[in-house]
Amino acid sequence: MHTIRQMMKNNREWSERIRKENPGYLESISHSQKPEILWIGCSDARVGPDQLIGLPMGSVFVHRNVANVFATNDLNCLAVLEYAIDELKVPNIVVCGHYGCGGVNAALEHKGVNPVDLWLDQVRFVYNRYAEELNHLERSERANRLAELNVEAQVHNICRNTIIREAWKRGQQVNVIGVIYDIHDGLLKQLGIEFRSQEAWEACYGEAFSG
Ligand SMILES: [Zn+2]
Repeated sequence: MHTIRQMMKNNREWSERIRKENPGYLESISHSQKPEILWIGCSDARVGPDQLIGLPMGSVFVHRNVANVFATNDLNCLAVLEYAIDELKVPNIVVCGHYGCGGVNAALEHKGVNPVDLWLDQVRFVYNRYAEELNHLERSERANRLAELNVEAQVHNICRNTIIREAWKRGQQVNVIGVIYDIHDGLLKQLGIEFRSQEAWEACYGEAFSG
C-alpha cells in the first residue's frame, strides 16, 4: 500500500505544481487532444515514453503491449491505429523496441500455450523469418538483433495495414519510423526504417512483406 499512497501524494504535488507554474495549462488541453506521435512500445516498466522523449503532455498517443507488437489480427491494435489516424490525424507513428526485452527473450525459448506464449508467436514468426542470420549469433546478440528485427517487422505490419494505406492514398501525412532503446545509456537509436508513403514502403519491402 505504501506505493499507492506515494502515487496519490505525488499526483497531488504534481497537480499543485503544474497549476501554480502554468495556470490555465490543464484547462487549455482539457477540450481535445492533438498528439504528434502514436507510440507503439513494450509494456516493460523501464520504457515509458513520457520519460524517454520529454515531450509535453498531450503529444503522445500511446499503445503498449508485450514486445511492442503491432498484431494485424488484434482488435486493440487496430482500434488504436484507426482512432489515431482517422480521427486524431496523428502525423508520426513510432514503433519502439528495446534491448534486453523479456518478451523477445521469451520468444527464443521453448513455446508454451499460455497467453503470453501465444502472443509471442508473433515475435517467433520474425525469428523464423531471419533464423539463418540469427542462429549465427551468440545468445544475447541474437536476442538484441531479434529485438531490432521485431521493430522492423512491426513497422511493416503497420505500413501494409489498410488504415495506413488509405491515409496515404488520400494524401494524409503519416510518417512511420522504427527505433530501439538501450536502457544502459538511455538513448533511442533509429533503425534506418522510415516510410512516408506507400510508394516508399513498397519500393523497399512491399514485395517481401506482401501476402
Ligand atoms: Zn520489452
